[in-house]
Amino acid sequence: MASHLTIAIDGPAGAGKSTVAKTVARRLGLLYVDTGAMYRAAAYLAVKYGVPTDDESAIVDLLNRHPLSFERRSDDTLQILVDGVPVQDELRTPEVSSVVSPLSAHPRVRTELTRIQRQLSEHQGVVMDGRDIGTVVLPNAALKVFLTASLAERAARRAQELRAKGHEVRLSDLQRAIDERDAQDASRHVAPLRPAPDARILDSTGKPVEAVVQEILEWAGEVRGVE
Ligand code: C5P
Repeated sequence: MASHLTIAIDGPAGAGKSTVAKTVARRLGLLYVDTGAMYRAAAYLAVKYGVPTDDESAIVDLLNRHPLSFERRSDDTLQILVDGVPVQDELRTPEVSSVVSPLSAHPRVRTELTRIQRQLSEHQGVVMDGRDIGTVVLPNAALKVFLTASLAERAARRAQELRAKGHEVRLSDLQRAIDERDAQDASRHVAPLRPAPDARILDSTGKPVEAVVQEILEWAGEVRGVE
């Protein structure tokens, strides 16, 4: 039976949030919401229409003219559509990855995407992953997890993912890019990357995905018990 349980999973780039969050959501029958993909879709729009990412008003205007839309897939994940077209791999290119962080620092861009994210969790249980879910988007989430891993391991995981999709990547470049993105995300004024005071910190370095998933499922069982 679906429930209204809300689980927030935040953490730095490449910590395995989406794989873990998606699996937890499926096992609990909850909707999985990847908020990073929404910021990436905004970045993809900016690249597609040649809008400079430092121009906040132009980005907001672009999002108004080309609103993101969503479809729930049969596996309880969300498909994002840009201009009515489903996007997936387009959101994970090195180009989009390099502009998404400066773009997501704009307060008005965040206000708009936060509004959509809250709406998605209004009438259904969700597992939502991102950077500010436990601190800003869903401050009343029943369970908050801050998932992290060493920089070396996060870069190695991303390299593997990108290579599997046919992108050529150098590990050292990727490590630098991830580190830079985390530093930008953690130092911005609005909704910076940081654990909520009541988040449970989970370091996944050296841990298989299933072990991390099990830990979160156990915590979910605990919070469900006291709901
Ligand atoms: O999770 P992912 O690496 O796909 O996120 C891409 C970028 O989107 C992050 O580096 C961050 O700049 C931004 N983001 C954010 N807030 C979120 C999710 C993602 O600012 N809740």
